[in-house]
Amino acid sequence: MSQRFQNDVAVVTGGGAGIGAATCRRLAREGAHVVAVDWDGESAEETVDAIHRDGGPESLAIETDVSDESAVAEMADRVDERFGAVDALVNNAGIRVDPKPVTEADEASWDRVLDVNLKGTAFCSKHLVPLIDDGSGGAVVNVASVGAGWARENWAQYDATKGGIVSMTHDMACDHADQDIRVNAVSPGWVITEYHVGDRTGQAAREFVDEKTTRGGSDENILERAAKPDELAAAICFLASDEASFLTGVNVPVDGGASVI
Ligand code: ADP
Repeated sequence: MSQRFQNDVAVVTGGGAGIGAATCRRLAREGAHVVAVDWDGESAEETVDAIHRDGGPESLAIETDVSDESAVAEMADRVDERFGAVDALVNNAGIRVDPKPVTEADEASWDRVLDVNLKGTAFCSKHLVPLIDDGSGGAVVNVASVGAGWARENWAQYDATKGGIVSMTHDMACDHADQDIRVNAVSPGWVITEYHVGDRTGQAAREFVDEKTTRGGSDENILERAAKPDELAAAICFLASDEASFLTGVNVPVDGGASVI
């Protein structure tokens, strides 16, 4: 595998599971020291243990709730103490709330989903972009969702946060261009892992994932299948790498063509 991130430091929020964990593993395979941030500290540790077991670069797990600004500031201090600088930030931590129309959504659920998805992205950027700004440039990749650009029933709360992330991406790209920091987003469509298959476990879960990620497993997109987290990680790592040197302010749909049918 290429070594696009040799000796770089990459911080990935929500690094304990799914897209975030796959992104941590890929960044490490390509040479980065990874900081896996997750409010589930054990899962972040597991990601980092796997990197070290594979002989990957020295990496760090930090238990942090991205919606808590003072905790995010402490996390950034720890990253600064340990590595001194950051090259790439992947704002991936996110939650879903029970699907409901706005007329039925309560204030607590709005607070939760806005705090984690939107303010979490803002807080991590606020405290980590200054560490990217060491003169050598760098990149921020925000994980949005195809839902940001879709009209669909019952997803107003989640989609509003993801639409906000896309808007924040546009404007952050302007704010940080002078520092040679590119800011982009990816919008995943349907991504599936064993974790997402409810009470299916072990072999049954793996077979379900195999079926859904094989052509014919989904009629939601042109490729007729769900994505694996590694396929999102590949797009995120491209945007984080110097190969994407002329991309900033864009939102790349990684959805098997779902957004154009
Ligand atoms: P996806 O399919 O988008 O990868 P997951 O739910 O599998 O979604 O992963 C999201 C990750 O984000 C999980 O590891 C979860 O623990 C983490 N996460 C969710 N909320 C927060 C938060 N407030 N702070 C830090 N990590 C969070």
